[in-house]
Amino acid sequence: MGDYWIFTLYGNSNFLIMRKYLFNIDKYRYVTGDRPKVDCILCEMINGNPDITNLILYRSEFNLVTLNLYPYNPGHLMIAPLRHIEELTLLSAKEAADSHKLLVFCLKVLGEEFNAHGFNVGYNLGDESGASISHIHQHIVPRYKNEVGFIDVLAGDRIAVVDPLVQFEKLKIRFDNADSFLSVD
Ligand SMILES: [Zn+2]
Repeated sequence: MGDYWIFTLYGNSNFLIMRKYLFNIDKYRYVTGDRPKVDCILCEMINGNPDITNLILYRSEFNLVTLNLYPYNPGHLMIAPLRHIEELTLLSAKEAADSHKLLVFCLKVLGEEFNAHGFNVGYNLGDESGASISHIHQHIVPRYKNEVGFIDVLAGDRIAVVDPLVQFEKLKIRFDNADSFLSVD
């Protein structure tokens, strides 16, 4: 089985960015239901399982911030508690406060690094919500003015290619310097 290239697009009236993913068959199997044989992919990521793609940007005392491997938009992040919790009501006050502080930092970084114009923030809770991982996690999805479709590319707009690994590195630098921001009460 070979690899596939996947393209996602975003931009505004002046530019169009096409992001190119190398999409391998293992990831395809994951999204189509044949997931790694682990109880919880987030716990495995937290525990450093080398078979799990690790996109962790930051780890605090209580939570982690990770890029979503299957983003809805460029810069799609997730915040999850380090403890395996399947109910939002089981999140402790300390974990919740820490999560909120991380959320604020994520919004700041995504606004500055990706020029996001808006965000969708929230949890999918319960079997009927669309959640694919039982370990609770909060999504932070940047939104961009004039998010575009593939037809705009065909119409001949300028295209820039953004490598997802470059995207990860760009964010990682910001999170590597997050301690001073996050330590302020
Ligand atoms: Zn877990």
